[in-house]
Amino acid sequence: MRCPNCQSKDLGKIGAEQYYCWGCFIELTAVDGKLALSQIEEDGSLTSLDDLFEDEDLQMPM
Ligand SMILES: [Zn+2]
Repeated sequence: MRCPNCQSKDLGKIGAEQYYCWGCFIELTAVDGKLALSQIEEDGSLTSLDDLFEDEDLQMPM
């Protein structure tokens, strides 16, 4: 599994369906076989990055 944003394989698991990319510091959440990407802001809030990607880029690899 790679980060769709920076192609890094350096992903850390932080929850049952949640990963953290150490390459670009975003959170990846698996939802229904797809990844939702969120950027963690300095104040701790999350900003969705899904609009920046095509659906096919967010498919979870089998
Ligand atoms: Zn990344």
